[in-house]
Amino acid sequence: MRFLTLIFGTVGSGKTAELLRLVSKLEEHNSRCRLIEKRKFTVFKPVIETRSDQITIISRSGQAFDKVVAVSDINDLVRELDRHNPDIIVIEECQFFEIGAGNEPQAFILLIRKLLESKKQVILCGLIQNCYGGQFEISSSLCPEADEIINPHTTCHCGQVASRSQRLQIGYSTPITDPVFIVDDDSSHNLGYSYEPRCNNCW
Ligand SMILES: [Zn+2]
Repeated sequence: MRFLTLIFGTVGSGKTAELLRLVSKLEEHNSRCRLIEKRKFTVFKPVIETRSDQITIISRSGQAFDKVVAVSDINDLVRELDRHNPDIIVIEECQFFEIGAGNEPQAFILLIRKLLESKKQVILCGLIQNCYGGQFEISSSLCPEADEIINPHTTCHCGQVASRSQRLQIGYSTPITDPVFIVDDDSSHNLGYSYEPRCNNCW
């Protein structure tokens, strides 16, 4: 059945925990129902996401799922979709399909629309806006087409609700001349970069 779920929020908002909650419900469904009612699902993530190894997704609270298919770009995602042919497609950190060789937001959006037209269920998880407050094209284009939007929030260091992502370098906000994408991984941590959730006042 065509059904698009978007899980969008700031850094540290619990997006991945929400994704893992839905994955765990799918596993529970498949473990309880008759063979004919089982729903084949595949979880994909971009290779660029390096918070965990290439077959695992881990939430900040420590929940994990370790049957993930890591893909290098949109063409690789299409190949793996053909190979696995899932009824339900789950994609983590979808904003990364907007950057790098082989990626382009409109190509990703068209692929998602094609999957939905062929009666697939799609669950996308990602950032709703970049650290400078700009929209990601994937989230802004697909929001009006979603059947369900999950928008978890966390708390800013001041105690207010955080609705924005702040990039810091050695504790200070980074200049707008820095690239929009600096991946949150060991190499960026070595350069002093970190990301934190912020309310509108502190951002
Ligand atoms: Zn604040």
